[in-house]
Amino acid sequence: MQVELYDTLSRQKKPLEPQDNTVRIYHCGMTVQSRPHVGHLRGYIVMDALRRFLRFKGYEIKLVQNITDIDDKVIEKSAAEGIDWRMLAERNTDELLRVTDALNIERPTVMPRATQHIEEIIDLVSKIIEKGHAYESKGDVYFDVRSYSKYGKLSGKNIDELESGARIEPSENKRDPLDFALWKAAKQGEPYWYSPWGKGRPGWHIECSAMSAHYLGSEFDLHAGGEDLVFPHHENEIAQYEAATGNGFAKAWMHVEMLNLRGEKMSKSTGHLVVASDVIEAYDPNVLRMFTLRVHYRAQTEYTIEGMDEARSAWERITTFLAAAQQVLGEPALATEYPKLDAVLSDDFNTPKAMGLVFDLVHQGNEALASGDKDKLAEATVKLNLALQILGFKPRREEGVQDVKTLLDLLVRFRSELRAAKAFEWADKLREMIQEAGLIMEDTKEGTRIRFR
Ligand SMILES: [Zn+2]
Repeated sequence: MQVELYDTLSRQKKPLEPQDNTVRIYHCGMTVQSRPHVGHLRGYIVMDALRRFLRFKGYEIKLVQNITDIDDKVIEKSAAEGIDWRMLAERNTDELLRVTDALNIERPTVMPRATQHIEEIIDLVSKIIEKGHAYESKGDVYFDVRSYSKYGKLSGKNIDELESGARIEPSENKRDPLDFALWKAAKQGEPYWYSPWGKGRPGWHIECSAMSAHYLGSEFDLHAGGEDLVFPHHENEIAQYEAATGNGFAKAWMHVEMLNLRGEKMSKSTGHLVVASDVIEAYDPNVLRMFTLRVHYRAQTEYTIEGMDEARSAWERITTFLAAAQQVLGEPALATEYPKLDAVLSDDFNTPKAMGLVFDLVHQGNEALASGDKDKLAEATVKLNLALQILGFKPRREEGVQDVKTLLDLLVRFRSELRAAKAFEWADKLREMIQEAGLIMEDTKEGTRIRFR
């Protein structure tokens, strides 16, 4: 089945057609001026699941996920805290990695930092100037938006409409309010690198154009990021790269919608957010994945405690079933194919439909447990295991089963104690309660056993 994803640029679903067996993806990562919040994690989880699915489809994946470690906000924030900007960037990058590792999010093939690619950035800026699409002004370099006729093609924005709302800040040296900075001259006390235009640092947008080109070349398969990056960040990335090289930039654009909090986008600058590590402490990491994948990536959604609690019960339904199935089937096995799942994920990565299939399997499996149909149970379980693996869930099977066994042993022991104390009425009452809970308690020659019905 051919994988299709909705492409923001052509505004339609587009088949993923890598030139060879490797899918080349650039995913805009975090600017590390603050601690990661749960809004960031939505994109990381979706990308992780997509990557696992593409691997299941037989592709190799080259995923570049950058870290923006130099930026106006990084400088402002570190000055406010009175620490070196590098310490701030490292601290927040470390936290991002801790959180994503805990969430079973695989690390990207490359995680480049903007400050490691100043040379490539300067090269790209020079090429844009040579081609007549950028100009230097008092140590700053600006992209000349009017010179690039295709500006606005990703976001669908009209240059004249943009112009009417724009103005030039007193600190800026540009000719036109629409122009954006490729290079910024260093102000007193700011970090800087040497360049043909003097001491300064790169603008945010050029960092991603330079790093994606460096690792993936032109016309790579997919450029991804949050919906809030369509304009101006991604619009500018396209303009910069295409103006400099004359080559096409990414073949397709994937945008993951926002995770809101009380109706508003989570934002580092306003502090309207939920810190990611707090969520990791409060919930099993699979719960946030469940919460995320139950919604399609192109739909906005709200972060709520109720939503997370619901996702937790949903996850517990799965693990309870898996523990019971393992008691009957032994070690878990994996199906090699599951065409229905393949079909829904190939169609614009429809994870809510995939989760629907997952819960159908849990339902079928529980029915098979109840009727004692071991074949049907095995069929549902191997498909479920494959689906969970593709979506990146990581059930802690052994622990779960151990917990259940310990609990069942405890009940058996307690009942023998009651009988030894001749409290037969209570021993019978306990047996009734156990049976009401859907379990079977049998007295055999070897002793008492509890099993799932
Ligand atoms: Zn970017």
